[in-house]
Amino acid sequence: MSDSTIVLVSVLVTAVIVIPTMLWRNKRDRRRADQNMVRTMRRIANERTESQAILSSLDVGIVAYGSDDRLIASNPIAEAYFGVIPDSLSTFLDRYGADNGMRAAYYLESDDISGELDLDGCTLRLVCQQHPFRVAGERFSGHIITAQDVTLFRRQEEQRKIFVANVSHELKTPLTTIKSYSETLLDWGIDEKSREDIKSDVARIYDDSVRMERLISDLLLLSTIDGSRFHVKMVLFDLAECARQICDRFVDQAASKSIKLEFSVLSRHTTVLADRSSVERILTNLVVNAIHYTEAGGHIRVYTGNIVDDFYIKVVDNGIGIEKADLENIFRRFYRVDKTGSRAFGGTGLGLSIAQELAWMQRGRIEVESEHGIGSQFTLFLPSARRILRESLFEVSNKEKPRDAVAIAAHEVIRRLLGELSRGDIKDDTGSFDLRGLLDIIEKKVDNRTGL
Ligand code: ADP
Repeated sequence: MSDSTIVLVSVLVTAVIVIPTMLWRNKRDRRRADQNMVRTMRRIANERTESQAILSSLDVGIVAYGSDDRLIASNPIAEAYFGVIPDSLSTFLDRYGADNGMRAAYYLESDDISGELDLDGCTLRLVCQQHPFRVAGERFSGHIITAQDVTLFRRQEEQRKIFVANVSHELKTPLTTIKSYSETLLDWGIDEKSREDIKSDVARIYDDSVRMERLISDLLLLSTIDGSRFHVKMVLFDLAECARQICDRFVDQAASKSIKLEFSVLSRHTTVLADRSSVERILTNLVVNAIHYTEAGGHIRVYTGNIVDDFYIKVVDNGIGIEKADLENIFRRFYRVDKTGSRAFGGTGLGLSIAQELAWMQRGRIEVESEHGIGSQFTLFLPSARRILRESLFEVSNKEKPRDAVAIAAHEVIRRLLGELSRGDIKDDTGSFDLRGLLDIIEKKVDNRTGL
């Protein structure tokens, strides 16, 4: 074989072996590249879904702008706050950052670009931060704006400020009297005033110190209620009997103002499961107010009755009444229609707000109707013990945890009763829990108030 033939054969052999191998490798590489691309796209899609899921689950609004100022992402909360999100950061800042200083801070390249925004009755706290962040695996540098609803926080802060100002004012008034009267007595009064005048000054000092004491005790009570530290002792008792006792206690005080105080009962079986001292305090407040705000010769009627499963006690007077505009405010702390009139008899302006809080604690409420110059009607509603025990029996049978002090007491009553009853009372013929039968027994016991 000549040399040229050998070269030709080698080239042919090489071509036959190498070219298919190359073609195969090429194909394999392309296939691998395709697979890689599919994998990358899947990862991107997954990451996008994941980041969208994360953004959607956040309870703050998020808006992200890229390094080119354009909108990259936002979450549903942000869309709920702002509607259509501006498609550039500068438009966003023009619209929402002009009045709160965020736009200026951004252009001055400040480290702190934040502010508050009042939008449709909500207060939002906006913070804009520059970030290198990743979207679908790629790094971007841009801005993220977070928007947090701080309405409740701001409202509470405002209420706290008003409360502190009110407390300071209420304490300052009697304190000023005490100080000036005692100063006068110390300076010259004891030497120069008559015995009678000195006695009247000391009486004034005493009255105002009692008022301060009452105010502080009401404030301490409110603070224990607010801090959920108020201790309640839930017991079964007769609401009508409790109301009668309170009225008996104030008949003489009413009579001394020539006011007739009458009590009557309109329904049988008024057993409640509640904190008796709280109920006494509520009723005392309503009756004492009725006496204070009724002119001499007036008439106060107190009566108990029931509406379906609720008991009520109405305290109805034909006193000075309350203007419509004041009516919705009288349960607010320190609200008084006539400050001087209320202070004159030592009112703190906290009585009704405490009474309402105490009523809520027993799952009750206080409602008011009044007409200026005609009179007022305050109604305390409380759920019957029957209803509380019925609801709790279902909770116990569903193994639900007691949700408040009333439920804890009711569960305790039911547990005690279950311990006393025989198996036949609790289980029916099929051996399952006889809820209806048990309810009948409980209701009879509540009505007769035997053994509970
Ligand atoms: P106060 O210590 O001033 O009585 P309350 O919280 O008990 O505080 O009552 C708030 C305000 O509601 C009172 O200052 C008074 O103006 C009004 N009010 C309460 N009860 C009556 C009533 N029976 N008749 C008229 N006004 C009432």
